[in-house]
Amino acid sequence: MSIELPEAKILADQMDKQLRGKRVQRVFLKDCEKLQRLGFVNKDVHAFDDLVNGKIESVTSRGSVMRIKLDNRMSLILAPEYGGIIQYYAKSESVSDKAHLTVGFADGSALTVRLTGMGVINALKETELERSYVYRRDFSEVSSPIDDKDFTFERFSKLLANKNVMLKSVLVGKDAVVVGLGNSAFQDIIYRAKLHPKRKASELNTDESRALYNAIKLVVQERLRLGGKDQFTDLYGKGGHYTPTMGPNMKGQTCPTCGASVEKMSLGGGFTFYCPKCQK
Ligand SMILES: [Zn+2]
Repeated sequence: MSIELPEAKILADQMDKQLRGKRVQRVFLKDCEKLQRLGFVNKDVHAFDDLVNGKIESVTSRGSVMRIKLDNRMSLILAPEYGGIIQYYAKSESVSDKAHLTVGFADGSALTVRLTGMGVINALKETELERSYVYRRDFSEVSSPIDDKDFTFERFSKLLANKNVMLKSVLVGKDAVVVGLGNSAFQDIIYRAKLHPKRKASELNTDESRALYNAIKLVVQERLRLGGKDQFTDLYGKGGHYTPTMGPNMKGQTCPTCGASVEKMSLGGGFTFYCPKCQK
Protein backbone atom coordinates (compact mmCIF):
# COMPACT_ATOMS: atom_id res chain seq x y z
CA MET A 1 0.00 0.00 0.00
CA SER A 2 1.55 3.24 -1.20
CA ILE A 3 2.24 6.07 1.19
CA GLU A 4 1.25 9.29 -0.52
CA LEU A 5 0.84 12.80 0.88
CA PRO A 6 -2.14 12.15 3.21
CA GLU A 7 -0.64 9.04 4.79
CA ALA A 8 2.81 10.64 5.16
CA LYS A 9 1.17 13.62 6.88
CA ILE A 10 -0.81 11.37 9.24
CA LEU A 11 2.34 9.45 10.19
CA ALA A 12 4.50 12.58 10.56
CA ASP A 13 1.93 14.28 12.83
CA GLN A 14 1.66 11.16 14.98
CA MET A 15 5.43 10.76 15.19
CA ASP A 16 5.90 14.43 16.05
CA LYS A 17 3.56 14.06 19.02
CA GLN A 18 4.84 10.67 20.14
CA LEU A 19 8.58 10.90 19.53
CA ARG A 20 9.55 14.53 20.19
CA GLY A 21 12.16 14.69 22.97
CA LYS A 22 13.05 11.00 22.83
CA ARG A 23 16.75 10.11 22.72
CA VAL A 24 17.95 7.47 20.25
CA GLN A 25 19.75 4.67 22.05
CA ARG A 26 20.28 2.15 19.29
CA VAL A 27 19.60 1.69 15.60
CA PHE A 28 19.29 -1.72 14.05
CA LEU A 29 19.07 -2.59 10.33
CA LYS A 30 17.97 -5.97 9.03
CA ASP A 31 17.76 -7.56 5.57
CA CYS A 32 18.68 -4.30 3.87
CA GLU A 33 21.35 -5.58 1.42
CA LYS A 34 19.04 -5.57 -1.60
CA LEU A 35 17.57 -2.17 -0.65
CA GLN A 36 21.12 -0.81 -0.35
CA ARG A 37 22.09 -2.16 -3.76
CA LEU A 38 19.05 -0.44 -5.26
CA GLY A 39 19.98 2.81 -3.53
CA PHE A 40 16.95 2.94 -1.20
CA VAL A 41 18.99 2.68 2.01
CA ASN A 42 22.41 4.32 2.65
CA LYS A 43 25.18 2.23 1.11
CA ASP A 44 27.30 2.97 4.19
CA VAL A 45 25.25 1.63 7.09
CA HIS A 46 27.50 3.45 9.57
CA ALA A 47 25.56 6.60 8.72
CA PHE A 48 22.82 5.19 10.97
CA ASP A 49 25.26 5.06 13.92
CA ASP A 50 25.34 8.87 13.80
CA LEU A 51 21.68 8.92 14.84
CA VAL A 52 22.57 7.38 18.19
CA ASN A 53 22.45 9.79 21.16
CA GLY A 54 20.53 12.33 19.11
CA LYS A 55 17.29 13.68 20.57
CA ILE A 56 14.27 14.03 18.29
CA GLU A 57 13.48 17.71 17.75
CA SER A 58 10.62 17.44 15.28
CA VAL A 59 8.96 15.26 12.68
CA THR A 60 7.58 16.92 9.56
CA SER A 61 6.39 15.84 6.14
CA ARG A 62 6.11 17.38 2.71
CA GLY A 63 4.63 15.49 -0.22
CA SER A 64 5.16 11.81 0.51
CA VAL A 65 8.44 12.33 2.39
CA MET A 66 8.89 12.40 6.17
CA ARG A 67 11.80 14.00 8.00
CA ILE A 68 12.71 13.08 11.56
CA LYS A 69 15.08 15.84 12.70
CA LEU A 70 17.49 15.19 15.54
CA ASP A 71 19.36 17.70 17.70
CA ASN A 72 22.76 16.39 16.54
CA ARG A 73 22.47 17.69 12.96
CA MET A 74 21.25 14.33 11.70
CA SER A 75 17.95 13.54 10.01
CA LEU A 76 16.20 10.32 9.22
CA ILE A 77 14.38 10.59 5.88
CA LEU A 78 11.54 8.12 5.34
CA ALA A 79 9.61 7.76 2.07
CA PRO A 80 7.94 4.36 1.71
CA GLU A 81 6.30 5.52 -1.51
CA TYR A 82 5.38 2.11 -2.92
CA GLY A 83 4.45 0.61 0.39
CA GLY A 84 5.65 0.49 3.94
CA ILE A 85 4.70 0.15 7.56
CA ILE A 86 5.91 2.56 10.21
CA GLN A 87 5.01 1.63 13.76
CA TYR A 88 5.56 2.75 17.31
CA TYR A 89 6.02 0.38 20.22
CA ALA A 90 5.83 1.57 23.82
CA LYS A 91 8.04 -1.38 24.78
CA SER A 92 10.85 -2.41 22.45
CA GLU A 93 10.52 -6.11 23.44
CA SER A 94 7.33 -6.40 21.40
CA VAL A 95 8.89 -5.04 18.18
CA SER A 96 8.13 -6.79 14.88
CA ASP A 97 11.06 -8.89 13.64
CA LYS A 98 10.13 -8.07 10.03
CA ALA A 99 11.29 -4.46 10.26
CA HIS A 100 14.09 -3.21 8.04
CA LEU A 101 14.91 -0.47 10.53
CA THR A 102 14.39 -0.42 14.27
CA VAL A 103 15.15 2.71 16.28
CA GLY A 104 15.26 2.05 20.03
CA PHE A 105 14.85 4.99 22.41
CA ALA A 106 16.37 5.55 25.86
CA ASP A 107 12.94 5.23 27.53
CA GLY A 108 12.49 1.66 26.21
CA SER A 109 10.11 2.53 23.35
CA ALA A 110 10.87 1.91 19.70
CA LEU A 111 10.02 2.91 16.12
CA THR A 112 10.13 0.39 13.27
CA VAL A 113 10.09 0.87 9.51
CA ARG A 114 9.41 -1.86 6.99
CA LEU A 115 9.39 -1.26 3.26
CA THR A 116 6.97 -3.49 1.35
CA GLY A 117 7.75 -1.85 -2.00
CA MET A 118 10.21 0.69 -3.36
CA GLY A 119 10.95 3.42 -0.89
CA VAL A 120 13.65 5.30 0.95
CA ILE A 121 15.24 5.01 4.39
CA ASN A 122 18.12 7.47 4.67
CA ALA A 123 20.20 8.71 7.60
CA LEU A 124 21.70 12.03 6.50
CA LYS A 125 23.68 14.89 7.96
CA GLU A 126 22.08 18.33 7.62
CA THR A 127 24.64 19.19 4.94
CA GLU A 128 23.80 16.05 2.96
CA LEU A 129 20.01 16.41 2.75
CA GLU A 130 20.02 17.71 -0.80
CA ARG A 131 21.73 14.49 -1.88
CA SER A 132 18.48 12.67 -1.25
CA TYR A 133 16.37 12.62 -4.40
CA VAL A 134 13.06 12.32 -2.56
CA TYR A 135 13.94 15.10 -0.11
CA ARG A 136 15.01 17.40 -2.95
CA ARG A 137 11.84 16.61 -4.89
CA ASP A 138 9.27 17.13 -2.12
CA PHE A 139 10.87 19.59 0.34
CA SER A 140 10.94 22.02 -2.57
CA GLU A 141 9.24 24.99 -4.24
CA VAL A 142 6.71 22.68 -5.91
CA SER A 143 3.12 23.26 -4.66
CA SER A 144 1.71 21.09 -1.92
CA PRO A 145 -2.04 20.44 -2.34
CA ILE A 146 -2.46 20.54 1.43
CA ASP A 147 -1.47 24.19 1.63
CA ASP A 148 -4.16 26.60 0.39
CA LYS A 149 -1.79 29.56 0.02
CA ASP A 150 0.71 27.52 -1.97
CA PHE A 151 -1.71 25.50 -4.10
CA THR A 152 -3.93 28.10 -5.73
CA PHE A 153 -6.02 27.52 -8.83
CA GLU A 154 -4.30 30.45 -10.58
CA ARG A 155 -0.86 28.95 -10.08
CA PHE A 156 -2.01 25.42 -10.89
CA SER A 157 -3.81 26.33 -14.12
CA LYS A 158 -0.83 28.37 -15.35
CA LEU A 159 1.45 25.40 -14.82
CA LEU A 160 -0.95 23.07 -16.63
CA ALA A 161 -1.12 25.38 -19.64
CA ASN A 162 2.64 25.03 -20.14
CA LYS A 163 2.66 21.24 -20.12
CA ASN A 164 2.07 19.54 -23.45
CA VAL A 165 2.15 16.10 -21.81
CA MET A 166 -0.32 13.58 -20.42
CA LEU A 167 -1.88 14.27 -17.06
CA LYS A 168 -0.03 11.53 -15.21
CA SER A 169 3.39 13.13 -15.61
CA VAL A 170 1.90 16.47 -14.52
CA LEU A 171 0.53 14.99 -11.29
CA VAL A 172 2.97 12.17 -10.43
CA GLY A 173 6.76 11.88 -10.37
CA LYS A 174 9.78 14.05 -10.87
CA ASP A 175 8.19 16.59 -13.25
CA ALA A 176 4.89 16.89 -11.39
CA VAL A 177 3.50 20.37 -10.62
CA VAL A 178 2.37 19.19 -7.17
CA VAL A 179 4.12 17.05 -4.56
CA GLY A 180 2.87 13.93 -2.85
CA LEU A 181 0.57 12.23 -5.38
CA GLY A 182 1.20 8.68 -6.57
CA ASN A 183 -0.49 6.39 -9.08
CA SER A 184 -3.29 5.58 -6.66
CA ALA A 185 -4.29 9.20 -6.08
CA PHE A 186 -3.89 9.92 -9.80
CA GLN A 187 -6.55 7.37 -10.87
CA ASP A 188 -8.95 8.52 -8.19
CA ILE A 189 -8.45 12.20 -9.07
CA ILE A 190 -8.93 11.97 -12.85
CA TYR A 191 -12.02 9.81 -12.36
CA ARG A 192 -13.55 12.44 -10.09
CA ALA A 193 -12.53 15.17 -12.54
CA LYS A 194 -14.08 13.10 -15.41
CA LEU A 195 -10.88 13.31 -17.46
CA HIS A 196 -9.53 10.54 -19.69
CA PRO A 197 -6.06 9.25 -18.68
CA LYS A 198 -4.63 10.17 -22.10
CA ARG A 199 -5.65 13.82 -22.00
CA LYS A 200 -2.88 16.38 -22.23
CA ALA A 201 -2.59 19.04 -19.55
CA SER A 202 -2.21 21.98 -21.94
CA GLU A 203 -5.43 21.05 -23.76
CA LEU A 204 -7.74 21.32 -20.75
CA ASN A 205 -10.24 24.15 -20.80
CA THR A 206 -10.85 26.28 -17.70
CA ASP A 207 -13.73 24.13 -16.42
CA GLU A 208 -11.67 20.96 -16.80
CA SER A 209 -8.65 22.49 -15.06
CA ARG A 210 -10.94 23.62 -12.26
CA ALA A 211 -12.43 20.12 -11.97
CA LEU A 212 -8.94 18.63 -11.77
CA TYR A 213 -7.86 21.15 -9.14
CA ASN A 214 -10.96 20.49 -7.03
CA ALA A 215 -10.54 16.71 -7.35
CA ILE A 216 -6.93 16.90 -6.09
CA LYS A 217 -8.02 18.88 -3.04
CA LEU A 218 -10.98 16.61 -2.38
CA VAL A 219 -9.02 13.35 -2.57
CA VAL A 220 -6.24 14.66 -0.32
CA GLN A 221 -8.68 16.10 2.25
CA GLU A 222 -10.90 13.00 2.31
CA ARG A 223 -7.95 10.65 2.74
CA LEU A 224 -6.70 12.79 5.62
CA ARG A 225 -10.13 12.96 7.21
CA LEU A 226 -10.67 9.20 7.02
CA GLY A 227 -7.29 8.25 8.47
CA GLY A 228 -5.66 7.32 5.15
CA LYS A 229 -6.44 4.86 2.42
CA ASP A 230 -7.81 1.41 3.22
CA GLN A 231 -4.90 -0.99 3.75
CA PHE A 232 -2.83 1.85 5.23
CA THR A 233 -1.97 1.44 8.88
CA ASP A 234 -0.95 4.36 11.03
CA LEU A 235 1.75 4.60 13.70
CA TYR A 236 -0.38 2.54 16.09
CA GLY A 237 -1.49 -0.11 13.59
CA LYS A 238 -4.91 1.45 13.06
CA GLY A 239 -6.29 1.05 9.53
CA GLY A 240 -7.42 3.87 7.22
CA HIS A 241 -11.00 4.08 5.92
CA TYR A 242 -10.69 5.82 2.58
CA THR A 243 -11.63 3.64 -0.41
CA PRO A 244 -10.60 5.11 -3.78
CA THR A 245 -13.49 5.74 -6.18
CA MET A 246 -11.29 4.44 -9.00
CA GLY A 247 -8.20 2.23 -8.98
CA PRO A 248 -7.21 -1.46 -8.81
CA ASN A 249 -10.06 -2.01 -6.32
CA MET A 250 -12.47 -1.39 -9.23
CA LYS A 251 -11.03 -4.17 -11.42
CA GLY A 252 -13.86 -6.16 -13.03
CA GLN A 253 -16.45 -3.75 -11.61
CA THR A 254 -18.82 -1.31 -13.20
CA CYS A 255 -18.63 2.46 -12.85
CA PRO A 256 -20.78 3.58 -9.89
CA THR A 257 -21.84 6.68 -11.86
CA CYS A 258 -22.87 5.28 -15.27
CA GLY A 259 -22.69 1.48 -15.02
CA ALA A 260 -20.10 1.01 -17.81
CA SER A 261 -17.40 -1.65 -17.32
CA VAL A 262 -14.23 -0.25 -15.78
CA GLU A 263 -11.24 -0.59 -18.13
CA LYS A 264 -7.54 -0.51 -17.55
CA MET A 265 -4.62 0.71 -19.61
CA SER A 266 -0.87 0.64 -19.21
CA LEU A 267 0.35 4.18 -18.68
CA GLY A 268 3.74 5.56 -17.64
CA GLY A 269 5.00 2.47 -15.82
CA GLY A 270 1.79 1.22 -14.19
CA PHE A 271 -1.85 0.42 -14.82
CA THR A 272 -4.54 3.05 -14.81
CA PHE A 273 -8.16 2.02 -14.23
CA TYR A 274 -10.80 4.33 -15.68
CA CYS A 275 -14.40 4.61 -16.89
CA PRO A 276 -14.46 4.84 -20.71
CA LYS A 277 -17.83 6.60 -20.61
CA CYS A 278 -17.46 9.17 -17.82
CA GLN A 279 -13.84 10.11 -18.46
CA LYS A 280 -13.44 12.17 -21.62
ZN1 LIG B 1 -18.82 5.92 -15.76
